[in-house]
Amino acid sequence: MQILDGQSASQAIKDALKLQVAQLANEGRKSPHLAAVLIGSNGASETYVGAKVKACAEIGFKSTLLRLEQDITEHKLLHVIDELNKDMEVDGILVQLPLPKHISDEKVINAISPEKDVDGFHPISIGRMVQGLPSFIPATPHGIMLLLEHYKIDTKGLHAVVVGRSNIVGRPMSILLSSNTNPGNCTVTICHSHTRNLEAICLEADILVAALGKQGFVTADMVKNGAIVIDVGITRVPDASKKSGFSIKGDVDFAGVSPKSSYITPVPKGVGPMTIAALMKNTFKACKHNN
Ligand code: NAP
Repeated sequence: MQILDGQSASQAIKDALKLQVAQLANEGRKSPHLAAVLIGSNGASETYVGAKVKACAEIGFKSTLLRLEQDITEHKLLHVIDELNKDMEVDGILVQLPLPKHISDEKVINAISPEKDVDGFHPISIGRMVQGLPSFIPATPHGIMLLLEHYKIDTKGLHAVVVGRSNIVGRPMSILLSSNTNPGNCTVTICHSHTRNLEAICLEADILVAALGKQGFVTADMVKNGAIVIDVGITRVPDASKKSGFSIKGDVDFAGVSPKSSYITPVPKGVGPMTIAALMKNTFKACKHNN
């Protein structure tokens, strides 16, 4: 069994980006600029945005964090996005989800200019990705593909089972794994809460991607010997031994599943850091494209 170390793979990507940013500076060009919009004070969202801003600083990107009140109107938020769309200094726009209930995710995602859609959630980005055209790819599935690439895992012809069909993780993951790319070229089954015989389907997986948000859901009896296991889940569990008061758990029962797997991502330090590395790659791409 080999651990797929997202921390070191993401560091390698960030180091490569750092060199590319230095190259832009040598050419007298601007460095990439990410604008992150954070609404309210959700603890998890604060952590995710904080990590993205920190990664920008580490690589040499500029970042702007816009903190907006929890009760901001949808109209005002759309105006803020419009201003960021027009701002020539800003290359990428990220609106941290989830949004407050009174704001439509769909309207906000659609309002971001596709040229600055570094989260890859805009219908134009998704449509282009589905057609195999150059596009911004949603950061988490993109990060998983980069991790498979980093470890030179040959996925051609494998049966991939993706548990979860959200627009930001499961569904784009299924599209990417089935694409005629390397990594890719898998035969993909996508599962959700109405899937029958989920355990039996998971047992057939050569690659099992767990993205359902249920701590420890995937147990050893659901995993084939030698499977590649990708754990996307992030659940905060109260833990008095931690300074933060919680620990982070994945969707996979790591202790039980890891001895059966050929490769497995840990939680934390697996998919999480790769999501950030993928966002950084998208932001660099937006900068190159827009300038
Ligand atoms: P989501 O929008 O809640 O989607 C969960 C999906 O799992 C849904 O499609 C749901 O099915 C399916 N599901 C739920 N219970 C199931 C069950 N018992 N059997 C089969 N399918 C089931 O969640 P998400 O945004 O995709 O995120 C999933 C997890 O990944 C969460 O823990 C989230 O925190 C984590 N995440 C991690 C990263 C990272 O960087 N590591 C990034 C994003 C998300 P239905 O469609 O039928 O409801």
